[in-house]
Amino acid sequence: MTRTLLILGGTAEAGELARRMTSAHSETLRVISSLAGRIEATGNQRRNRGNRIPGEVRIGGFGGQQGLEDYLKQQEVDWLIDATHPFAVNISRNARRACEAQKVERIVLDRPPWQKHPGDQWVELPDMTAVAKSLPWLGRRVFLTLGEGGLKAFARLRQPDHLKSWFLVRLISPPEGPLPLGTEGKDYEVILGRGPFSLDEERALIDCHHINVLVAKMSGGTATEAKIIAAREARIPVLFLSRPPPEPGPRLERMEDILAWLDMRVKRLDEAATG
Ligand code: NAP
Repeated sequence: MTRTLLILGGTAEAGELARRMTSAHSETLRVISSLAGRIEATGNQRRNRGNRIPGEVRIGGFGGQQGLEDYLKQQEVDWLIDATHPFAVNISRNARRACEAQKVERIVLDRPPWQKHPGDQWVELPDMTAVAKSLPWLGRRVFLTLGEGGLKAFARLRQPDHLKSWFLVRLISPPEGPLPLGTEGKDYEVILGRGPFSLDEERALIDCHHINVLVAKMSGGTATEAKIIAAREARIPVLFLSRPPPEPGPRLERMEDILAWLDMRVKRLDEAATG
């Protein structure tokens, strides 16, 4: 009997999970990967990710908790793995609530945060406003890798010209309009890219743009870790936006453990079906 697994994705780990699960259970498991669709719609998935996600792929929001509940029912989902990014709070909250309501077993693939090394100058703050306020004390040539969402907080940094920051802003997709950071070219520059980034690329950016502070989300994982290593090598401070609190419920950090978690459940149901 075929069972259905829904993987909430949008991360490198989610793609890897889909690959491993489809090959481990090709006969008995239907694997559906769900992507939000913002990047995919622009074609970046094809350009940047290269690897097609095996199994079925559905793209776009579900329509909140209720939409996800309807989807779980329609597709007769047996298990849900939340392998979304640690900062993707809305989908994770909806997933927990929808799974509770529909009695679908759920587990989170929890990406471990990066670990501080001796000598690292790390400052971690809980919100964008606090990050923006601390920035001028740490450096003025800023490599900003927070995405487009919270940039307004940096616009409020009203500084006299000689104290002004200059920003190198890395985004996944082109911004919808001018950024609230001053004049493009003079006050900021935008570069586009989606990880993974190589250490050489990150070293070159820090070096060529005379960056003296990196601003990043505490994302963890390997896809965007090179910038943290490059900052360590260059001995520049890193200002982190802390992770939002995780949803309650079971979570595992290692992919092998998630595979074992699913293995056990598939086998248990197969054994029950064969009597
Ligand atoms: P979010 O705030 O939690 O999600 C906003 C809405 O987008 C959700 O309510 C949901 O719409 C839809 N959505 C998000 N992930 C989805 C998925 N995997 N499948 C179907 N619908 C999804 O998330 P976000 O921070 O905008 O991130 C969007 C996606 O990008 C996530 O899948 C995440 O894994 C990935 N990502 C995020 C970051 C980050 O820094 N936030 C970084 C790298 C990758 P409905 O309510 O209509 O269902």
